Amino acid sequence: MRLLIANGHLIDPAAPENTGMSVLIEDGRVAAWLNQNDPTPEGAEVFDASGLLVAPGFIDMHVHLREPGHEHKETIASGCAAAVAGGWTSVCPMPNTDPINDNAAITRYMIEQAERAGMANVFPIGAITKSSVGSELAEMGEMKAAGAVAVSDDGRPVPNAGIMRRAMQYAKDFDLPVIDHCEDKSLSSGGVMHEGRVSLLLGLKGMPALAEEIDAVRDIILAKETGAHIHIAHVSTKGAIEAVRRAKNEGINVTCEVTPHHFTLTDRAVEGYDTNTKMAPPLRSDEHLEAILEGLKDGTIDAIATDHAPHHQDEKALEYDRAPFGITGLETAIGLAFNELVHKGVIDLVRLVELCSVNPAKIFRLEGRGTLKPGSIADVTIIDPEMAWTYRNSESRSKSKNSPFDGHAFNGGPVATIVGGKLVYKRER
Ligand SMILES: [Zn+2]
Repeated sequence: MRLLIANGHLIDPAAPENTGMSVLIEDGRVAAWLNQNDPTPEGAEVFDASGLLVAPGFIDMHVHLREPGHEHKETIASGCAAAVAGGWTSVCPMPNTDPINDNAAITRYMIEQAERAGMANVFPIGAITKSSVGSELAEMGEMKAAGAVAVSDDGRPVPNAGIMRRAMQYAKDFDLPVIDHCEDKSLSSGGVMHEGRVSLLLGLKGMPALAEEIDAVRDIILAKETGAHIHIAHVSTKGAIEAVRRAKNEGINVTCEVTPHHFTLTDRAVEGYDTNTKMAPPLRSDEHLEAILEGLKDGTIDAIATDHAPHHQDEKALEYDRAPFGITGLETAIGLAFNELVHKGVIDLVRLVELCSVNPAKIFRLEGRGTLKPGSIADVTIIDPEMAWTYRNSESRSKSKNSPFDGHAFNGGPVATIVGGKLVYKRER
């Protein structure tokens, strides 16, 4: 099985000078880079990527696939189908399934379901504590052996600093990054949106920025002391970004990600009380969005991750206070990155590929990914940087339709996705 991706614009930050090369894939691996006027190797199928960007497969470090336990919202198969349609070759599901992914059996089950679906790779994230209730540490070593790439209690962040300290020591022993949803619930609980002028006007209870910042600072201090690698999930506030920047300058092992909705929308989007603007952390105000753009520019932010959080229509069709937190995001992320970051000159294409592929692969130690160098795994994201298209919830491959970007127009988006050398998605044009 040979596939030649010909005539494209190759973006591999590991070899930035080679934009003019074609990529030859054989048996699931990149076999060679060829000059575009070299003859087509014998027996190779040709994918004509004229006018398209060819990048190492994008890795979404933060998704919720809802299986096992909440298959009415999403299954691993439907989530992986949405992932590849969004240009993601790999996704990393959080452990808040039912039961919680706090043991090797569930981790293994998730990977097997993904293999059965045959679309995106799934690299599960195991729980930090048993049942994610913040008391007893989960069996990190066994989960890692089963394929987990990190640990997190995500939306139920470990409240107790002593347990978090032990969790970091333990995770460090297994060389597992700790993914940190920073939220001090003593400050945010009961809140449904960012605390500020807009929450006051709308009469909704706010979640202050400092709830994120206090927790981020606490865990950066613990990371410094333990030497563990912490990765701050969906960073959304100016103070948290500044804390990460300072920590990096001090040499502390901290990385962080941002979601597309946080670099696109502010709390003003909540004004229509659309429950598809309700997520945790919440959409913040202008000063925070500006800090996010600055962090994307200067390298403080390492990755773009969707926090894809499907919820059934009936669950979101409640009043704002009662609706669950979270929105879908797999299929709109690249479009938003082009609209808001690339076309506006915030970042260039090399940096986009670092944020979506190179750095996630590094952070999760995914050998052979995040590059298309010969020998690497043939996961490829192919993008049309100028394609005009409109996202429609009704056409989403996700089982849930809770995106605030229904009807949103984009310039630039994924057109083909190759996983392990196999073309698993192609957009009809
Ligand atoms: Zn979270």
